Amino acid sequence: MEHAIDIKAVVLAAREAVATHVDELTALDAAIGDGDHGVNLKRGFDAVAEEADQLAALNLADALSAASTRLVMHVGGASGPLFATFLKALSGALQAGRGGIADVFDEAVDAVARRGRSGRGEKTLLDVLFAMADALRLDPTGSDLPQVAAQAARDTIPLVATKGRAAYLGPRSAGHMDPGARSVALITIAVSHHLAGARP
Ligand code: ADP
Ligand code: MG
Repeated sequence: MEHAIDIKAVVLAAREAVATHVDELTALDAAIGDGDHGVNLKRGFDAVAEEADQLAALNLADALSAASTRLVMHVGGASGPLFATFLKALSGALQAGRGGIADVFDEAVDAVARRGRSGRGEKTLLDVLFAMADALRLDPTGSDLPQVAAQAARDTIPLVATKGRAAYLGPRSAGHMDPGARSVALITIAVSHHLAGARP
């Protein structure tokens, strides 16, 4: 049976996923960036989780918008505004009520792409978001999103970065997984079972 999304459970699952993988994200970002991605995200998701009860009292669109504001205030780094843009655009698309879940997700991914001035294959978190958008088109239940996201993050390994700090390394960025791609995959894996069968 369909049920509403448990906002608090989603927030706490995302916070937990980031908190338990800080070292991994730090190591990935140390290899091709400046090593702060795990700490940046932990600060942001801890701040969102602090407000989990208040967020859970809101409707989904308002909760996404409030979480976005919280993230942009606390994450810092290039990834903060990108994560925040994603949640804000999801919120706006839900509120507008246009189309199905794949359309809503597409709108949010496009907003991140505009904000980052980047596209597919640039070895960023967008590679995972675009792969998930494709998967949602084929299967709007999203049942395969954890696997799709994990694979898309791995698929960034051979890529040469053309955006973000990793781009400074040029060809030497190849051979490492993009930290932002990995964090998006980790969060997806952690929250997706809370979204399965739910309706916005
Ligand atoms: P910073 O690079 O400022 O230290 P973080 O380490 O928190 O910020 O985040 C790095 C991640 O942000 C990268 O792994 C990449 O996925 C993502 N990123 C950086 N710049 C862009 C961009 N222009 N477009 C999309 N994603 C980007
Ligand atoms: Mg960094």
